[in-house]
Amino acid sequence: MAKSYHSLDPKRSLGQNFLSDPWWIARIADALSLGQEDCVLEIGPGKGALTRELLPRTRDLVAVEIDGRMVEHLQAELGHHENLRIVHADFLRYNLSNELGGRRVRIMGNLPYHVTSAILMRVLDEIRRGHEDGQAAQITDFSIMIQKEVAQRILAGPGSRTYGILSVFTALFCQGEILLDVPPNAFFPRPKITSAVIRLRPLPAPLAHVEDWDFFRRVVRAAFNQRRKMLRRSLSGVPGLPEPEALHDEDLLSRRPESLSVAEFAQLAARLGALNKLQQEDAHES
Ligand code: SAM
Repeated sequence: MAKSYHSLDPKRSLGQNFLSDPWWIARIADALSLGQEDCVLEIGPGKGALTRELLPRTRDLVAVEIDGRMVEHLQAELGHHENLRIVHADFLRYNLSNELGGRRVRIMGNLPYHVTSAILMRVLDEIRRGHEDGQAAQITDFSIMIQKEVAQRILAGPGSRTYGILSVFTALFCQGEILLDVPPNAFFPRPKITSAVIRLRPLPAPLAHVEDWDFFRRVVRAAFNQRRKMLRRSLSGVPGLPEPEALHDEDLLSRRPESLSVAEFAQLAARLGALNKLQQEDAHES
């Protein structure tokens, strides 16, 4: 039979592994510990498996879905709920500050696996803005289902094999924990991997002081781009960064990125940033 235009067949390109087992759906919703006063934003409601569970447990639910077929389906099935707003948008382009600015919001979702990192970085950036600007959305908790292996990377500490860019940025802004593991048979289509639900709670202030966020990002990315190399090598020849040898710090430059704590990365970026400024001023004068 030919597929109708409105077919809800899962699209792999949009990371559509739908929760299909009612027992697991209820367990996940319980683990999220919702409160009747909560304002929740759900990323990627899909056909509404979680949305249905969240609706009776929250005051307001904003569901942001990229796939027009799902949006149409959700409108038909759940559009009558007064506490639900269905938004047809790419979450990565959704302006949280404009839409939810100043409000306390919990963000949740069974995330599309292919954009997990981008979504995490987007939310962390919003948490940072929330610290700096009262007009930004005030995110009180970010609870998501993701690949278990990615969850472990996000929550890893220094010295661990899985410690990396995501761990550093998450630890700067949040405390995190794994709430539960979810097996492949809870989904249709079945993914090959085990998933985990994690909860990230924003810290009252960033763990370390960072003056220039773009510069800090550049340093952390460059360091982990060659994670087996010493900082002396990985930070050398990177556009926009000064040559690390100019720090004249043998001990630091002989270290590998996975051994640096978040505070040490912030110090490293501050020192390289100061050096950069000096070199730019010198170049300007000569
Ligand atoms: N919540 C549903 C469930 O648990 O059955 C669906 C989860 S499925 C893993 C991910 C959902 O995110 C899909 O519905 C997909 O269309 C949607 N999605 C993918 N990329 C998105 C994006 N950038 N912004 C918003 N939704 C997105």
